[in-house]
Amino acid sequence: MADPVYEKLIPALNARSTAYPAVKCDEFFDLVSFLFTPEEAGIFAAMPLGLATVEEIAENLPKGDPKKLAGQLETMADKGLIHIRERDGKKVYEALPFVPGITEFQLMRGIVDDRHRKIASLLRDYSRAMIKALMSATPPSLEGHAPGKKVVVDKEVEHKTTIVPLDELKELIMKTDYISVGTCICRHQGALLGKPSTKPVNNCMVLGESAQFATERGFTTRMTKEEAIKRLEEADEAGLIHTFANSPDLFTNLLCNCYKDLCMFIRGVARSPFPNMSVNARWVIKINADDCTACEACIPRCQMDALKMEDGKLVRDEIRCIGCGVCMWACPTDALSLEPRPASKIPLKA
Ligand code: SF4
Ligand code: SF4
Repeated sequence: MADPVYEKLIPALNARSTAYPAVKCDEFFDLVSFLFTPEEAGIFAAMPLGLATVEEIAENLPKGDPKKLAGQLETMADKGLIHIRERDGKKVYEALPFVPGITEFQLMRGIVDDRHRKIASLLRDYSRAMIKALMSATPPSLEGHAPGKKVVVDKEVEHKTTIVPLDELKELIMKTDYISVGTCICRHQGALLGKPSTKPVNNCMVLGESAQFATERGFTTRMTKEEAIKRLEEADEAGLIHTFANSPDLFTNLLCNCYKDLCMFIRGVARSPFPNMSVNARWVIKINADDCTACEACIPRCQMDALKMEDGKLVRDEIRCIGCGVCMWACPTDALSLEPRPASKIPLKA
């Protein structure tokens, strides 16, 4: 029987994000009691939404000693449970959401040992239980609570994962001061559970202030802009979709390179009847029929099955295309390009 304090983590996590919600079940308690000590769970649940000083967090705890608490918060940051920044020369602390946040930090160091095999299996078991609970006839409420605030989660606002084609990504990288890279958590989890991927694994990037935190705590390694662009080109060549989870409300700018064999997120998008609505898809593929030789090299590159031949001609499925641009790499005649998606004009398909 898990300590009752772990139950307080459910609203505290959901108040931060429900991209991967906290749902009450045995598998949730197995996971969080492995990651948090009971004392750490109590501290996490006492943290206000957003950035807070150690004194502000201590006010929410019955025996809040700021000096002792500062040490505990450092340990929690090393464990990837919270984030620490500096504001006006003073440390401020922020509890992390499950995703993007705690989950990534558990596996992006790429460590292979019994502890990380255990984490991989706990995450797998919880993911299955959470999906089962959400799909049930009586799905749980996902309201979140943190001291001083009650959050009613708006799923439309919540979903901010953006598909970014390579050329646009290169521009973003050139404008970013701090870039770091870690191990893809999905493919690493697969390897830890005996299902390794054939795709490259060292391409899960964190950008900006969060990258500095992740590097200083040993989750990621800093890289230059040129190294980052080369890594992204390799990912593109391997057919990986570039996804960017960034939100001013969340701690991180996480740039993933996804493949549906082991990535729960992109697999879910591919299984949707409306992939372009499951993500922030801002582009759609454009086929220049005059240049297309109907060689079909682009078709197997598409993880969304958005390209097919009809009467000897390549056609796109506008609803399935998420504008990742991964198909373009294969085209020998440059017949493919991306055009901005006129979102409001897309017809629904039953
Ligand atoms: S058609 Fe091309 S751009 Fe569209 S989803 Fe498929 S690979 Fe990505
Ligand atoms: S790879 Fe290029 S030429 Fe070949 S079918 Fe696709 S768009 Fe046409």
